[in-house]
Amino acid sequence: PHLTDLITARQGPFHTYEFFPPRTQPGLANLLDRIGRLATAPLNVPLAVSVTWGAGGSTADRSLDLAEAIVKMGLEVILHLTCTNMPIEKVDKALQRCRDIGIQNILALRGDAPRGDEYAVDANDNFDEFEHADDLIRYIRKQHGDYFCIGVAGYPTPHPDSDSAESDLHYLKVKVDAGANFIITQLFYDIGEFERWVLSVRGAGIDVPILPGVMPIQNFASFRRLANLTKCSVPPNIFTDLERIKADDAAVKQYGVRLATTMVNRLIASGLVNGVHFCTLNLEKSVRTILEKLGWLADGGHGSPSGRNQLIQDDAQ
Ligand code: FAD
Repeated sequence: PHLTDLITARQGPFHTYEFFPPRTQPGLANLLDRIGRLATAPLNVPLAVSVTWGAGGSTADRSLDLAEAIVKMGLEVILHLTCTNMPIEKVDKALQRCRDIGIQNILALRGDAPRGDEYAVDANDNFDEFEHADDLIRYIRKQHGDYFCIGVAGYPTPHPDSDSAESDLHYLKVKVDAGANFIITQLFYDIGEFERWVLSVRGAGIDVPILPGVMPIQNFASFRRLANLTKCSVPPNIFTDLERIKADDAAVKQYGVRLATTMVNRLIASGLVNGVHFCTLNLEKSVRTILEKLGWLADGGHGSPSGRNQLIQDDAQ
């Protein structure tokens, strides 16, 4: 089914998980065990599980194998698919394999240029088809009509390549007008900035569901790297807090869980979104604890949406 239909049908807040394809067979088996545990009682079942795609198609086979294994577990998959530095045949093959497996949700992305020897680009390949994510969306619609539900990336802190917040918003609208059905955001840690961004997105006439990307901080070095890479704004108090505990990995993880739980509660309480997209880094424990703390449990722990929101609002004050 289409993710947007699942969102409409879902009572109460929902979540999705993001995983990347492991390099080895034992790594894959291990990850599938984790996904199985994260998708069964007592935890609430994720609405979908997303599988990342190495830019340039560097993980094409591994991404599709992981996606297929997740489908076989009875879960809904969103396949990330980038379009630049990659021959069009790779896009065609991936989409056809999705249809064969029964995947109907694609996160259509531009991808980034290779850094160093990250992956090889063959000079004989023709890469002229796609420049931006909207080219990929139009291509998917042309080739596959409405078979796929298409998601796109959105940036509460404007994308580093953007001239301005206005131009980034303009191109988000271009992507939705080209046929995108939902938005998953880049990671962010400044909720005020996210809320202002959602209001500007709605103000621009974009009314598709927005899934905020939430990544529980796992350790200080990787968090700092991520913040540098994405250029996302981080409230200064988070860095101050982390500076104090950065040598203690367990304390950083606990902090990450507390912060993400507070963020999700605030996001749902804001009424601007109905669910969140957890960037798991393939780790199980933090997201499990967050779901437990949120009370997002399979036994109906969501409670009634209004009662729950009241609780959250009391909590946030
Ligand atoms: P675009 O939408 O093309 O935007 C890129 C920049 O160009 C922006 O500044 C935008 O404003 C501008 N722009 C957009 N359209 C146009 C246009 N038509 N003309 C001129 N300018 C335009 N990368 C991976 O390699 N694999 C993944 O699995 C992956 N998953 C991701 C998941 C999420 C939720 C997010 C937020 C990002 C992910 N990325 C992934 C990273 C992504 O590939 C990069 O952020 C990339 O730099 C931009 O991708 P995009 O689809 O947003 O590009």
